[in-house]
Parts: sequence; C-alpha cells; structure tokens
Amino acid sequence: MKVRGARQNNLKNIDVDIPRDAFVVFTGISGSGKSSLAFGTLYAEAQRRYLESVAPYARRLIDQAGVPEVDAIDGLPPAVALQQQRGSANARSSVGSVTTLSSLVRMLYSRVGEYPRNQPMLYAEDFSPNTVAGACPTCHGIGRVYDATEATMVPDDTLTIRERAIAAWPPAWHGQNLRDILVSLGYDVDTPWRDLPKKDRDWILFTDETPTVPVYAGLSPEQTRVALKRRMEPSYQGTFTGARRYVLETFANTKSALMKKRVSQYIIGRDCPTCQGKRLKREALSVTFAGLDIAEFGDLTLLKLRDLLIPIAQGEFGTAEATTKGHILGKAARDAAVERRVAAGGSAHKSAPDVRRTPNLSDEKRVAAQRLASELLERIGALVDLGLGYISLDRSTPTLSSGELQRLRLATQLSSQLFGVVYVLDEPSAGLHPADGEALLTILERLKAAGNSLFVVEHDLDVIRHAEWLVDVGPGAGEKGGEVIYSGPIAGLADVEASITRRYLFDKRVPNDRTPREARAWLRLEGVTRNNLHGLDVELPIGCFTAVTGVSGSGKSSLVSQALPELVAEHLGGPSPAAEEDDVDPLLDVAREATGGRIVAGLEHVRRLVRVDQKPIGRTPRSNLSTYSGMFDHVRRIFADTPLARRRHYSPGRFSFNVAQGRCPVCEGEGYVMVELQFLPSVFAPCSTCHGSRYNPQTLEVEWNGRNIAQVLELTVDDACDFFAGEASVMRSLDVLREIGLGYLRLGQPATELSGGEAQRIKLATELQRAQRGNTIYILDEPTSGLHPSDGDRLMQHLQGLVDAGNTVVVVEHDMRAITQADWIIDLGPGAGEDGGRIVASGVPGVVAEAEGSLTARYLKAAL
Ligand code: ADP
Ligand code: ADP
Ligand code: ZN
Ligand code: ZN
Repeated sequence: MKVRGARQNNLKNIDVDIPRDAFVVFTGISGSGKSSLAFGTLYAEAQRRYLESVAPYARRLIDQAGVPEVDAIDGLPPAVALQQQRGSANARSSVGSVTTLSSLVRMLYSRVGEYPRNQPMLYAEDFSPNTVAGACPTCHGIGRVYDATEATMVPDDTLTIRERAIAAWPPAWHGQNLRDILVSLGYDVDTPWRDLPKKDRDWILFTDETPTVPVYAGLSPEQTRVALKRRMEPSYQGTFTGARRYVLETFANTKSALMKKRVSQYIIGRDCPTCQGKRLKREALSVTFAGLDIAEFGDLTLLKLRDLLIPIAQGEFGTAEATTKGHILGKAARDAAVERRVAAGGSAHKSAPDVRRTPNLSDEKRVAAQRLASELLERIGALVDLGLGYISLDRSTPTLSSGELQRLRLATQLSSQLFGVVYVLDEPSAGLHPADGEALLTILERLKAAGNSLFVVEHDLDVIRHAEWLVDVGPGAGEKGGEVIYSGPIAGLADVEASITRRYLFDKRVPNDRTPREARAWLRLEGVTRNNLHGLDVELPIGCFTAVTGVSGSGKSSLVSQALPELVAEHLGGPSPAAEEDDVDPLLDVAREATGGRIVAGLEHVRRLVRVDQKPIGRTPRSNLSTYSGMFDHVRRIFADTPLARRRHYSPGRFSFNVAQGRCPVCEGEGYVMVELQFLPSVFAPCSTCHGSRYNPQTLEVEWNGRNIAQVLELTVDDACDFFAGEASVMRSLDVLREIGLGYLRLGQPATELSGGEAQRIKLATELQRAQRGNTIYILDEPTSGLHPSDGDRLMQHLQGLVDAGNTVVVVEHDMRAITQADWIIDLGPGAGEDGGRIVASGVPGVVAEAEGSLTARYLKAAL
C-alpha cells in the first residue's frame, strides 16, 4: 500500500510503500513518530473510511474530530487496532467477557448442563451475573455485600457519644447536629458506648427512621429536658439519620471522592450469603457440567479447563464410526458433527469417545457438548500458547496487566476468522518473558497465514528480527524525527548509518564488564503470602539494583508491586502506598486481598518506599504532564507576574483551566465537547467557543515572552526548554523530563493520552527532580516497556544514578539488556500461577545465568 504526504503530528510529509499481507514492524526511539504513522495515520484513515461507509451522515462530525493529515493512501485494507489499555478498565468485565468465551460457556451450561430433576431448562442469559435474569437477587450479581457494622462504625467503644464514639458520623457541624438530636431524643450521650443498652446502640446505628425533633444547641441534656417540657423555642428542627443509613447513602450518592473515601472505611465487604460470592441466582448454580457449577468452572485456570475439556471434545466421530453414529443420531446431530469436523480443519479425532464426567447425557446433548467443548478448546489453546494458561475466566480485567489484556484481545482475534484486514498492534511483547515471546510470534504468524497484514510497533529485538518488513522512523524525537529512515526487508537496515535502531540490531555487543555492587545490608522478608506466593522467604540487597525475573504469571508483581510495598508500609507506619492514591475505587479497596508475612531485618536502612508504576497519572484530561510534575504552578506564577495580569489583578489561579474565572465557560476548561453519534461510539470534538484552547479570551490576552498560557501548553518539553531558559523553577522539571527521554511530549498533553510507560517516566522524573536523600526503595514494574533500546539505556542510567545516591532500586523486568545491568537477580518460577511463586535462582547475573531449572538462565547467558 502506498502512503503519500503523511503529516500527522511530527511526520514530515512522508511517502512510504508498505507491502500487504506481511509482518511489518515500525521502529524508532520514543517520540520519533512510529505511532503517528501506524496508529495516527494508517489505522485512523482505515477507521475513517469504515465509519464513512456505514454512516455517511457522521462525516461532518468525524471530520471535526480529526482526519489524519495525509494526501493519499492507496490499497488500505480495513484495520483492527489492538492498543495497550489506557485509562481504567470496567470492573465488571472479566477474562471470559473480553474473550467472549463466557457466552460459549453459558451456552454449554444452558444446553448440556445437568439440571436437577424437575427444573426447567434455562436460557444462556440465566447464567450471566450481569443480566437481571441471571443475577443473584441479594447482591445483584456483584458477589459481595457491603455493610456498615457496629465494629466498623464505632472503632473505640470506650468513648461516649459526645466524645464521638460514632466515628462514622460526619465530622464538624453535621455530626454535632446529630449528637444534639440524640440529646433531644433522650439518649445518653455521656456514658461510654459499650455501657449503653444494646437496644439503644442498635437504634442509633441501624434505624431507618428519620424523626425530626426540636434541637436546643448548646444546652446540656438536663437543660434540654426542661426546655422540651416547657416547649421553649428551639434553635432549629433537626432530622436524625442513623449511622449506617448515613454511611451507605453517602457512599451511594455523594459526588465528592473525598467523602466517598471517608465513608468507605466504615464499610466492610463479605461474600454474599445467598450465592456465596458466586454472583448467580440459585437455579443457575444448581446446573452442573462435569460436576462443577458454572462459577466453579469459571474459577479454574485455563490450563485446568483444557485438561477437563479434552476428553469431552475428543469425539467418537472418527472416519468410519462417524457414519454409523450419524445414522443413529439423526440429521441435526449429523449436521453438528459435520460442522465440527469442518471447524477442526477436517482432521479426524483418533481416540475413543469419553464423556465420563458427564454421565447422564443424551446422545443429542453429547454431540452438542463435543462441539462446544472443541470450540472452547481451540480458543483456550490460543490463550495458553500466549502464556496466559494461569488465568481463569472469572478473573476481572482490572487485575490484569496491560500486556496480559492485549494478549487476551490478540488471542480473541484469532478466532474471529477475519481475513484481509490489517492488525495494528502496540508492543505486543510487553510483559512477556522471552520464553513466552516465542509463542507470541507463532500467534502473529497464524494471523498472517489467515490472510491478514500485521503492523506492529515494537522495541523487542527478537520480535523485530522476525519481521519481513521494517519501517524505521526517526532519526530523533518530535521535531527531530518524523522521517522514514528506512523501509524494506530487515537486512537492508544494516547499511543505514542514520538509524539508531541499526546499532542495536546489527552492531556487536560490547561485553558487559560491570562489577555488581555489594549489598550495604539485606532487607529480609519472611513467609510472604499473596496470590501464588505461599510463605516465600526473600532477601533484597540494600543499596543495590535488583531485577526480579520470571515467566508471565510467576509472581513477580505479586512480590514486588503488591507484597513488598504493603509490608514496608506496615512497618514504616504510613498508609499503604495503594491507599494514598485517590483514584482507587473505594469498594475495590474494601475487597482488597491481604498480604501475609513480615520483614525481619534491614528496615533501619529504609526511610521511604516509592512505587513508580504504569498507572495513569490521572483519569481525566484535566490532569496533564505539567500539572502532575508541579511545573504548571511555576508557569502560572510567571503569568500572574506579568504587568497586564497585575493590572487586572489576575492571580495564578486565573491561569488554571480548572478554575472558573479563567477558563472557557462552554467546555469548562476541557477544550472539547462530546458529540453523540446515534449508532456509533461518541466522539470528542474541539470546543467551538475556545477552539480547544480551554481558556476564555480575557485570560488569553495575557502573554509572557510572546505566548499566552494556551500556547505554552502546546509547547513540547524540548521547545519549552528554550522558551523558559533562565526560569530556574520551571527548568528544574523540564531538564529532568528531557533527560529521561520525554522531550517530545507537550506540556498540556492530557493524562489520558499518555501510555503506561510515559506515565511511569513522568512519575520517575517528578521523583528525580526532588532532592535525593538516599535510603529510599524505588519499585518499578517493567520500566523499559515501550522504550526503544537507546531510551532504555538512558533510563537505566538514571536508575543506576538513584542507586549511586544511596537508594535501592527493585524492578520487574523482561528485557535481558536491562537485566544484565543489575547487581542482583531474583528469578521466580519455575512456571506460572500455582506452578510458580518460588525462587528458582538468585544471585549476581553471572551466577543466575548458570542456574539449572531456570527458564531465564538461557536467555541471560546469551545476553551477558
Ligand atoms: P512514537 O510512537 O515513535 O513514540 P509518536 O508518534 O507518539 O511517537 O509521537 C511523535 C510526535 O508527535 C511526538 O513529538 C509527539 O509529542 C507528537 N504527538 C503525539 N501525539 C500527539 C497528539 N495527539 N497531538 C500532537 N502531537 C502529538
Ligand atoms: P507476574 O508479575 O510474574 O506476571 P503475577 O504476580 O501478576 O505474576 O501473578 C502471579 C499469580 O497470581 C498468577 O497466577 C496470577 O493469576 C495471580 N494473580 C495476580 N494478581 C491477582 C489478583 N489481583 N487476583 C487474583 N489472582 C491474581
Ligand atoms: Zn449473591
Ligand atoms: Zn471551550
């Protein structure tokens, strides 16, 4: 296909020819323009054409929302994009729903499940907790019930009501009202809570009555009694709300995240007593298949599910046998058998029929069971091949990493049986151990063999080497990139001097002669339990760079991102790092699984723990690079200090698009408005009042150095470095951002447009611009993901710098180039899920490379 005159973002009017039906990789350093070409131009144009063809009336709106800047693209097939997840996932979606395997499983239970005698057959929807038909009536399909109890609402029962025994009640005046109302109602507010009669305690906490009574503010209980008797004029009429009612209503209705968080600490979740957490109505749970109800089925790992389904799917429809059976079974069953054989590629199954585990099946049901089981097997096979065999169908997607989620979607595509489309993928190797990477390549090959094209933005050298065609974009980032340096078969890149990628693909590696640092002390963890870790003992060297390795699902994140921060926080006495984030769903927090274990030595060397993860730096476009790093505060001060701003008495707040005075009133500072399309996903279009600038005209009249505040937000970090040269407070942030390879980002780049890797580097930069005090543990999950090897090297230098400054760095990592730079390696495994969770090897790189039974050793040895 031919692309002519592409100018999207930083692309410099480029022309490029790309073969169809091929495996094409796009390479180049961060910000060079790979995504602008693959996603911003090719995919965007394919999607635009598709939308136009299905909804001509939408053309005007789609145009507004952004047509890629390109003169022409010839021979562009329809495209499917599989991007890394940005932003939050829906808590109700699960592995089963994302892969659509759930609907097959429901059909299996509906059609061939074993029903209790006299129970009528159920429809497939009856097995879905997300439908009214299927949901457990008590918990509405959530599986947990949430309640406020006496223990949660009254944490200290030695206090009196006046001393605020009922901690769950609102603070300040509202709480005072409620206490005054209790006085008017005649309750004793001066006796310790635990000595009050149970009847009174229950009423105060749990009543749904809301009596309105006269309140005498400031009067003692005695005086109040007198006042009531004399029918004196009250201060006001107050309405009572029981504590539980207050907590649950506030949780359900408040718009304030802070309030929601406050009351959530008085709510506890437990498994729903009706369905035992299985989320379905009783009738659905009484149907079994292979002896399991559908919830138990969904709880099995995919590997176990495969073992269970194989005997069921292995049909008796061998060659000769099929005909005889076919006669007995009648036409419908024969058709099904034929269908199944076609689906299985015409190959005959060899072994004898075996439906041992579902003894009472009629012949009819048996055929259906075989057909559904083989369909399930085929699709589960693809997931297992991608290294996801340790995951269960009921696992909720927010608990998956973005790499795992992308691979789920990828495997799902395999079964969609599309052909003639382009799949555009964003670093599918993210989160994959090299041992799993080989399976990924097989899957990609299969998609291609089915008649599709693959466009893959990728940094992993092993994946790049497998491509048939390479498009190298660069040479630099942002303004210094945007050109196609090379487009052709891989080998040809060897002669292209200007390409940074070339060096990593073809140059001889410099042998690694680093001497690992010695540990200053050891942080010893004992009996760690979390997910698949069962009583693990671990030692981490203080003052060193440690890489934790292992196949996907071996337990690296469970150890490094979950258990370690929680255990350290427990000992340091602060809130757990997770609890500090204000964007966690309070209810997920309530349900959060606990970590077991303790730290037995080394804590005296730890003052602080910082998790630099890939979670978005904000959930809305209102937070961006400059607000997150704190730089925007300085910029706004500079604007407020200009003569015009002073004359008009504009404070720094005026220059925030989150404050009413300065922002555009139409879009309220968002810069865009949502346009609802009738049958299509809504699109965002720039606000027609402020044209996307977010500010009102008066604010934009203020300029500094020839630019207004909106124009400043449009600057890239690189450009801002020239613009703000000499402004020390702003430069402190800008310098670090540029150093860390983010010079190409715009200051106002909304949080929602940033990849996980970019978010992580912004967090790291924000951390680096602080004074370095040592004795901090930094935790990073796959810091090199999304990075070109050359950017990865630069990042590693910064991390090593943190260690040189007296800190400890622990990373989860798959990239062998980075792992060889570690002082210490902890290899988890040997396998995934319950086959993992143990330490297979630990030591300096040279030692782990020789370890037996470690899947990592082989790859490490090759990289050393
Ligand atoms: P890569 O995929 O190679 O990391 P991108 O294509 O994402 O690079 O970015 C190339 C350049 O385009 C960068 O300078 C980046 O800041 C800029 N850019 C990316 N997305 C946008 C956007 N939505 N609006 C404006 N500029 C963008
Ligand atoms: P890795 O980081 O090595 O890929 P993880 O620590 O994410 O591995 O996972 C280890 C095991 O724990 C896997 O079996 C995984 O399915 C399970 N697991 C991880 N997180 C959760 C979770 N939030 N809920 C349930 N199981 C989980
Ligand atoms: Zn229930
Ligand atoms: Zn506006």
